[in-house]
Amino acid sequence: MGSPLVARMQGFGSTIFAEMTALATERGAVNLGQGFPDTDGPRAMLDAAKAAIDAGRNQYPPGPGVPELLEAVAAHQKRFYGMDLDPRREVLVTVGATEAIAATILALCEPGDEVVTFEPYYDSYAASIALAGAVRRTSVLRFPDFAVDEASLRAAFSSRTRLVLLNTPHNPTGKVFSREELELVCALAREHDAWVVTDEVYEHLVFDGVEHVPVATLPGMWDRTLTISSAGKTFSATGWKVGWVSGPAEAVAAVRAVKQFLTFVGSGPFQPAVAVALGLGDDVYAGLASSLQAKRDLLVAGLRGAGLEVSVPAGTYFVVADAAPLGAVDALEFCRELPGRAGVVGVPVSVFHDDVDAARTLVRFAFCKRDEVLQEAVGRLGTLRTSAG
Ligand code: PMP
Ligand code: GLN
Repeated sequence: MGSPLVARMQGFGSTIFAEMTALATERGAVNLGQGFPDTDGPRAMLDAAKAAIDAGRNQYPPGPGVPELLEAVAAHQKRFYGMDLDPRREVLVTVGATEAIAATILALCEPGDEVVTFEPYYDSYAASIALAGAVRRTSVLRFPDFAVDEASLRAAFSSRTRLVLLNTPHNPTGKVFSREELELVCALAREHDAWVVTDEVYEHLVFDGVEHVPVATLPGMWDRTLTISSAGKTFSATGWKVGWVSGPAEAVAAVRAVKQFLTFVGSGPFQPAVAVALGLGDDVYAGLASSLQAKRDLLVAGLRGAGLEVSVPAGTYFVVADAAPLGAVDALEFCRELPGRAGVVGVPVSVFHDDVDAARTLVRFAFCKRDEVLQEAVGRLGTLRTSAG
């Protein structure tokens, strides 16, 4: 018998994050691979989850999500972006942003429909597009500034384009799309009568006063935009898997129709806790971003000190560096060897590309770690330059 895996999922073996975290554990290496913080989020949120368990909120929550979380998401969109959402019809709680992405693509795409996205892309995008039997069409963002290339973006659209899958702030590059870049994407989406699905899980993790522009706030875009976010990044709770999607009621209903047969519901006691977190003061949001910005600065300086060329990220947990000066020829091979050579784990950016040559020697490092962990990693990487000569 051949492989039991369906053809369209061949090529999606184990995710790079699972592979690299396993390698870090096995080797006792410093893990700057998978993006998860090594400190906990707001105390009030953690206490609210414990209280929810103690209060017996341990059975299936309602399909769309618990009412206080739906309301908290709507209030968040109003507070930060001035948007008015109907919490009952225009918000759906999902099992992390991952489920929101999969359910949205499965809900909107017929087999053969095309999805336009930028590469490098977050790995679940390619897999979710493949699951739907859809086809991905990409435009490359190039190191070190990762600017949108209008010609290649235009060329990615066709009469089969069903949706554009955007991510701002962007993983793995740390790019925050400018208003002008987003307006170009939106103009093309309108021209091709396509949906825009926008993954904004890093919406609050932006630095240097750079503005995060939610696509749904751009003129004429609410009616064709589904916005995805998650508590994992904003509140340093990646294991809770509480995400949500918001947009026009009919589209949210379509996503709900699929979502109910993927997981039905999830994260029961964590949903009310995330509702509490979303309502925390501006100081909490600002504090998370500013502490992360200091970590970014620490890692960027350290990587430069170790001899790498770095693209300074305006948002997210991640920095992309060119490891060629450390002897990298192929990023995947380099990252597989790095734990053994230096006791550090990073993620090869090439695995997020169709055009692998665009990222041959690029490595993504996560800086959502304690300062001493970052310092240790940087010190270890510094030894490589000496050995690379
Ligand atoms: N989108 C992006 C861009 C991400 O980086 C991640 C996780 N790191 C996700 C989606 C998945 O989010 P969740 O853990 O909430 O499923
Ligand atoms: N999104 C996280 C990252 O980019 C990883 C999530 C996962 O392991 N699938 O590192």
